[in-house]
Amino acid sequence: YLKINKKLNFVKLMEIKHKPENDKRVSQDSNLGALKTMPVLDVFQRIKEEQIPEQDITARKYIHLPTGATVVTVEADDPENVFCIVFPTPVDNSSGVPHIVEHSVFCGSRDFPLKDPFKQFLVGTVGRFLNASTHLDHTRYPNSSSNEAEFKERVRFYLNTVLHPAMIETVFEQEGHHLHLTEKDGELTRQGVVYGEMKGYVMQMDWAFAMESLKAIHQSGVYAVESGGTPEEIEKLTYDEFKKFYREHYQLNKALIYVYGKLSEEKKLALLKELLEEEGDISKPVPPEPPSIPASPPLKGQEVKEVQYDPQTQDVEKQGAVTINWRLPRDFSARNLIFWDLMEALLVGDDTAPVRKALLESGLGTELIETGVVVYTDPPTFHIGLRGIKPGDAKKVEQLVLQVLKKVAEEGFDKDHLESVFNSYEFRRRERYNGSTPRGLLLISPIVDGWLRGEEPIEHLKWRDNFNEIKGKNVADQKEFKQAIKSCLLENSERVRVDFMPAPGLLAKKNEEEQRRLKELKESLSPQEIDEIIARTWNLIRLQRADDPPEAVAKLKFISIDDLPKKCNTIPQEEQEIEGQVVYYQPLNTSGIVYPRVSYDISNLTPEELPYLYLYTKFLNQLGAGNLSWEELIKEMGKNTGGVQASTYFDLAPETRKLAARVEISGSALSSKGSELVDIFQRIIESPNWQDKDRIAVLLTENVDSFYRWLRSNPLSFAERRLPAPFSPNAALAESVFGVNQFLFLKKILERDDAVEHLSEMLSKIHSKITSHSPAVISLTADEQSYKDFSSQLARLAKLLPSADGVNSASVLSVPNFSPENEAIYQDMGVCFGGCAGFIQDNPLGIKGEVFGKPAYMYLWDKVRVEGGAYGSYLYFNYPSSVVSMLSWQDPNIARTLKIFKTVADYLEKISQDDLRKAIVTTVGRMDWVDHPKLEGDKAFRRRLLGITDEMRQRWRESLFNTTLEDAKTFAELLRKTKFRTVLVGPQSVLKDVEGVDGKKLVELSV
Ligand SMILES: [Zn+2]
Repeated sequence: YLKINKKLNFVKLMEIKHKPENDKRVSQDSNLGALKTMPVLDVFQRIKEEQIPEQDITARKYIHLPTGATVVTVEADDPENVFCIVFPTPVDNSSGVPHIVEHSVFCGSRDFPLKDPFKQFLVGTVGRFLNASTHLDHTRYPNSSSNEAEFKERVRFYLNTVLHPAMIETVFEQEGHHLHLTEKDGELTRQGVVYGEMKGYVMQMDWAFAMESLKAIHQSGVYAVESGGTPEEIEKLTYDEFKKFYREHYQLNKALIYVYGKLSEEKKLALLKELLEEEGDISKPVPPEPPSIPASPPLKGQEVKEVQYDPQTQDVEKQGAVTINWRLPRDFSARNLIFWDLMEALLVGDDTAPVRKALLESGLGTELIETGVVVYTDPPTFHIGLRGIKPGDAKKVEQLVLQVLKKVAEEGFDKDHLESVFNSYEFRRRERYNGSTPRGLLLISPIVDGWLRGEEPIEHLKWRDNFNEIKGKNVADQKEFKQAIKSCLLENSERVRVDFMPAPGLLAKKNEEEQRRLKELKESLSPQEIDEIIARTWNLIRLQRADDPPEAVAKLKFISIDDLPKKCNTIPQEEQEIEGQVVYYQPLNTSGIVYPRVSYDISNLTPEELPYLYLYTKFLNQLGAGNLSWEELIKEMGKNTGGVQASTYFDLAPETRKLAARVEISGSALSSKGSELVDIFQRIIESPNWQDKDRIAVLLTENVDSFYRWLRSNPLSFAERRLPAPFSPNAALAESVFGVNQFLFLKKILERDDAVEHLSEMLSKIHSKITSHSPAVISLTADEQSYKDFSSQLARLAKLLPSADGVNSASVLSVPNFSPENEAIYQDMGVCFGGCAGFIQDNPLGIKGEVFGKPAYMYLWDKVRVEGGAYGSYLYFNYPSSVVSMLSWQDPNIARTLKIFKTVADYLEKISQDDLRKAIVTTVGRMDWVDHPKLEGDKAFRRRLLGITDEMRQRWRESLFNTTLEDAKTFAELLRKTKFRTVLVGPQSVLKDVEGVDGKKLVELSV
């Protein structure tokens, strides 16, 4: 796993300072025995402790004296404990060595001598997160669990893994690269997990834009290379260099350890003390060695660089792109990072932000790319990019950007825009909404980014004081903002423009070149050398196929089924009637925020209208409404709310297979701003301006372009969405609105001369059909006080719903038909994506079928990832739809993988009681995950829509607990009987010869 393009996530809030205390040093001669019996706090020197009320946390920093490790603990009222160990891993070449090391440490260690212990933890755990990631200059190993015993075992495993990995040569070959040849007359290939993974990244154009922009602005050193590796450089890395890199960087006194969660401070430290004494070298105390990663050298002046990239289409007229990149001052203080975060929002954050607005309306390009501040490099940088330009227009784009910046530097930002940005910033931080990511994981980035630059990491968890100070200072005259635009952007000579020139066929050429080189290499080898490669290949395959010794597997400790709660957790919900409308209220602790959602049943839409829903939901909150222009409406939303947006929702009710197809408008605001929030709902529902053709034209270009980009960069999700479409009505709808069919639909819309007029008319018609005639209900998630404050507004909101005599509730949505044939989507790339899916008829197992995805995952991990060189592969059974899918991604051996899919049934039939037990733990454990109150409220509402009761969920839970090996045999039998269709995305040269799982050829689906 490789993470490069992340934005720093400031998630913080006030402070009460405490003096550093407990400054007791362990004397140099303390021996091991004495250490073990020392009180926990004596081995941790506390450097800092702070309560951070705006985050509801207390953070502490220590040095673990025996090992010199830096430790940051965060106490939070959150059951999901998080651990992370971080090593600075700067590198000045693109051999991918930090990335290959990151993968390899998980392939067996001193106390866990298994070929792949990480795989074992993919199943049998209730923890929500287990992974590792290579960043530009450091490597992270995070995991999480709400179960204390499990958490301790995972921390033990992680420490043993990073501190005592086996790192044998075959592991390097498997994860890094090796020449692969199984027989004399076979084709010589180069394989390796990281090698294949990076081939997958290289083909993504977003990746190219990001990496080339960073390389250009940093020029040399750590931030001007690819820490993940490029295929050409990876193959040059040797085993000795790999071992040396590990030895130099993986030392405890260079590491940062982070522990987050509800566990008491005593428990956290006791756990670390015990495990660090077991895993670390405590023979003599070592002082910490703070990170010292060299900044990239200054630029001599402004520059222009030209880079070729593959647009993966022959039509290059508007496939150029440009980024303008600046180096910012080397100030990594928490205040400065917040300052630039705000600057990003002000300049390019939404469509009303001056630079973004000017670029989109200029017609020079289609969508912004790589835009905003990057704080995880040294120095930090700022980027503004535009794609979909005519090659050659880059200079025009740059001039426009500079012109707008100049204007803002003189006149400042529009007052409403400023207020909107400040309010949104504060709202998002207060809300702390993080999707389904455990919160403890989000705090890692600010801590690490502070620590790597020699800043106090705990300071980077706070935001309120700095934010208020910046706001107070700039709200009147904006002097500081104007000055920064002038000195850091306009007058900054350290600026590089990168012109991306489309070169269709570049990737294909690269692949051909690689094949040619390997062919030539093979021809140049002597028979002895060929024999040696064959012998090494088989040696690796034999090792990969060998079973781990049972006594080694037994060393991994897992929680048992009995550790799981017998009862499923529930979410409170009340059904009410307000103004004649049904309201589902979820009383949850939302910290003063209300989350209303209006949900329309869209069964009254015709099949012709359905495909428009993608653009409809994207446009709805981006147009003007009533007497407000689109800009005024966006600013109004920003100033007073957390936003209002539209979305579609398709699902299938379990047992009844009843389809849920909805369009929903949802929003959020502090309860004190409830009236403003409902005003916005009212405007959007009653009077959106579908006549603003200029705005529709801009939105059309922008959204079609981002859809196009999505298809190119996420081939897996397209295959995933398309596969079940013939078997399940919700999947068919999702495919039509978000899948390849949507892509084809958008293409047709663009071909129309009257596209904008047509959309204006159609979307307006669909809007009035939905908001006047579709039966609707309201969901509201809020704490009890906020609910009270909001109640009169809730009544107003209810009045906006179609009245009972206007709705047409008898209609049945007609779902588009998909033929279950095998399909291939051709794209120039070195690897393939996709797999197969089928409908399981008469499933006697019910929800138990979901259990078997877990052992299948472990099997596919071995066969498709480890042996086959794909990045990943899985089996997924969806209970409500009864569709089973098997997919793999970044797969260099797709034909082989499809054969493996056919053997999954044989494997499942023979799984052990232990594998089954682990699979049950994971399946049931997932049901117990608790998310942000907003998501919990949505979950309860969805269950209500689908008729899922708590009794039903309890029945499922018991049924899952009672899954047997007999059931595994039944599931295997069902798999054998299932007719699978195959859908693949990949190069034509490979896919034209591939046979689907059913033995039939693939039909080209032209996009
Ligand atoms: Zn990786």
